[in-house]
Amino acid sequence: MKFERLNLNRREVLKAAAAVGVTSSLGLSGCSEAEPQQQAPVLQGAIGKDGQRVPPWSNWSGNQVSEPNERLVPRDTDELSGMIAKAKQGIRLVGAGHSFSPLVPTNESLMSLAYFNGITHIDKAAKQFEVAANTFLASAGEPLWQEGLSLINMPDINTQTFGGAIATSTHGTGATLGSMSTNVIGMSLVNGQGEVVHCSQDNNTELFQAARNNIGALGAVTGMKIQAKDKYYLQETSWMMDLQEGLEQAEALRDKHRHFELYALPHADYIMGITLDEVDEQALSQPQESSGDAYETFKTLSKVIDAVPFMKRFIINAGASTVSKEMRSGRNYEVFGNIRDIRFNEMEYSVPAEYGVKCLTEILDIIKKQNINVIFPIEVRYIKGDDIWLSPFYQRDSCAISCHNFHDKDYKKYFAAIEPIFLKYDGRPHWGKIHSLTAKEQSARYPKFDEFLRVRAAMDPRALFANAHIKNVLGLS
Ligand SMILES: Cc1cc2nc3c(=O)[nH]c(=O)nc-3n(C[C@H](O)[C@H](O)[C@H](O)COP(=O)(O)OP(=O)(O)OC[C@H]3O[C@@H](n4cnc5c(N)ncnc54)[C@H](O)[C@@H]3O)c2cc1C
Repeated sequence: MKFERLNLNRREVLKAAAAVGVTSSLGLSGCSEAEPQQQAPVLQGAIGKDGQRVPPWSNWSGNQVSEPNERLVPRDTDELSGMIAKAKQGIRLVGAGHSFSPLVPTNESLMSLAYFNGITHIDKAAKQFEVAANTFLASAGEPLWQEGLSLINMPDINTQTFGGAIATSTHGTGATLGSMSTNVIGMSLVNGQGEVVHCSQDNNTELFQAARNNIGALGAVTGMKIQAKDKYYLQETSWMMDLQEGLEQAEALRDKHRHFELYALPHADYIMGITLDEVDEQALSQPQESSGDAYETFKTLSKVIDAVPFMKRFIINAGASTVSKEMRSGRNYEVFGNIRDIRFNEMEYSVPAEYGVKCLTEILDIIKKQNINVIFPIEVRYIKGDDIWLSPFYQRDSCAISCHNFHDKDYKKYFAAIEPIFLKYDGRPHWGKIHSLTAKEQSARYPKFDEFLRVRAAMDPRALFANAHIKNVLGLS
């Protein structure tokens, strides 16, 4: 999400709200008709083997929590292999905990590969590098740049680990660009028997097709080799359009730019377009004054609207009409990486690229029709099809539509209303985001689902790496 680009700051939103006469009656700290805020359960932590409490775990947004009875942090591959070989209970790997779906929660062993960290080798000639699995995406930009290289594409934050990002086919946007998993050319894992296994395009190829979207079900990924490209600068342009104009232009803009995405404003008549293209260093635009934390602005706007929900369309339109065109540029990894301080929950489905605009239009319609209490913009991105067995982009160029609500707002009614629309358009959910599909529906979406299950059974015959959610989405008993 890129609301920092929205030149909608708190002052302007309040100005817009004042213009319609609502601010005087508001205590913006909270009197509202909104649903009660969700209370996170208070977890004590399970009692571990040594009689001490084990720290409970929570993901980034707080919608997933668990009480593992053990935390494992192996220091190297030998120790990791030993822990897995001797394991008497389930193990779930955790990266940065940025998944919204229950991929990580366990009340057994929670394992972090925190010591498996850093870029271990750079091959400048081949434009490839090797990275330990728990390295944060943010740590790769600078060292690669110093060697004249960069990642081919990135998601809109950089606080995931490589291991976690690859496990769920994490992606950015760009019709000619695949997910991060498509740039992986080799991987090393420790399987459920504690054995080290390598795979690549030429070696152990079935495992390679499964491992590049493994949802943590094949074993512990210790490192990977990634194809990069020559370092590059990006120029980003964002601007607000009339909704109809934006929907009509979406595919042409997608085809014209290296990266293109849309942010549609629920209940409103505006849509924001963002393009990113490579530029020479000499063409970098002058830095602009920051437009402030737009997430915070939207949070404020949300409180205004909670108090006068019948005015939401008017208020959002008034705010959106103040947004001006913005440009910024710089090293690609600085432009891609956004800071996310305001937490949210998210559902994302990928539909065939040609259905993207239609699907988005139906979602916007149902939000209006059912008067769903959401103002969080909907993000629309394009991703090139690939050949990875459980990739949401398997054999089809895709349009990923991401719907969010603030972490303290109820997302269930919203997501329940829109999920049937995604399914109607043959959508495949992001494995790391909220969805309700079980193995029955997932298997119908992935032609190579059974092949994945076969590789999983060979890698982890004791199903050590399967928590309740993995059993549910893969159909394991
Ligand atoms: C603010 C925010 C923005 C986001 N933006 C995007 C985006 O732009 N594009 C996008 O596609 N997604 C996005 N996501 C989703 C996120 O990229 C994925 O959920 C990703 O999988 C999270 O990586 P992580 O390191 O946090 O892993 P976790 O969430 O901790 O784990 C994810 C999965 O990886 C497994 N895993 C982790 N490490 C290992 C390992 N070493 N070996 C084996 N398995 C492992 C875990 O068991 C789990 O199944 C976003 C999420 C948030 C919270």
